[in-house]
Amino acid sequence: MAQPREEEADVEGNDKTKYTSVNLEKKRAAAAMKSRFYEIMEEEYSRTKSGGSCMVKKSEYNEFINLIIQSSSVKGKTQHMVNAWKRYMIMSNVESQQLYRKLQKKVTNKGVTTLKAIQWKVAYFEIIFDIIHKTHIALMHSRDIRVHKLTIDKHWWGITETAICAYRELCPECLHSGKPPKAEEMTPLNMMISNSIGSLGQMDLIDYRRRPENGFKWIL
Ligand SMILES: [Zn+2]
Repeated sequence: MAQPREEEADVEGNDKTKYTSVNLEKKRAAAAMKSRFYEIMEEEYSRTKSGGSCMVKKSEYNEFINLIIQSSSVKGKTQHMVNAWKRYMIMSNVESQQLYRKLQKKVTNKGVTTLKAIQWKVAYFEIIFDIIHKTHIALMHSRDIRVHKLTIDKHWWGITETAICAYRELCPECLHSGKPPKAEEMTPLNMMISNSIGSLGQMDLIDYRRRPENGFKWIL
């Protein structure tokens, strides 16, 4: 009679090991996804930098904060100080100083359009992945870029649709779920396929999930 109990204990033990390794695998997959996301976004950052990109790296963010603090205590302001002061402001709390982008928003009331000054919390480059990730989970893996953008824009300035799109194309759960896309798109998708960590490969696939042919849903 003792034997079945031993077997049960064994099964439990195996499950625990399996559970831990699944968690580890998930953590590694998340880390790989984040590093791939930043590879793509570094390129995007360099590409859009000269054209007045709205992406701000942490080092630039800190520099703007310093410039604004300095500009309030010196008489002759440098051009950098003036530029920073025109575009940004600081709001402080007990723990830190938060940079806000000063913008003007068009408000139409009874047919009359006026400009209203607004302040928008700056999301610097290094935290955009985490913000998009939280939003994507809260939206239950929605594939709608616009909904992500509207949700994020309520709180943050500096996160582009390109960044959200880059994130979405890398989300392993979205790639592996059989969720049909919102609009039937027959254009090639850039997909990242990962069978195991450390072996990432990229290929162009055409989405035929809505019209499978002989059970095949993707065309290479
Ligand atoms: Zn997803």
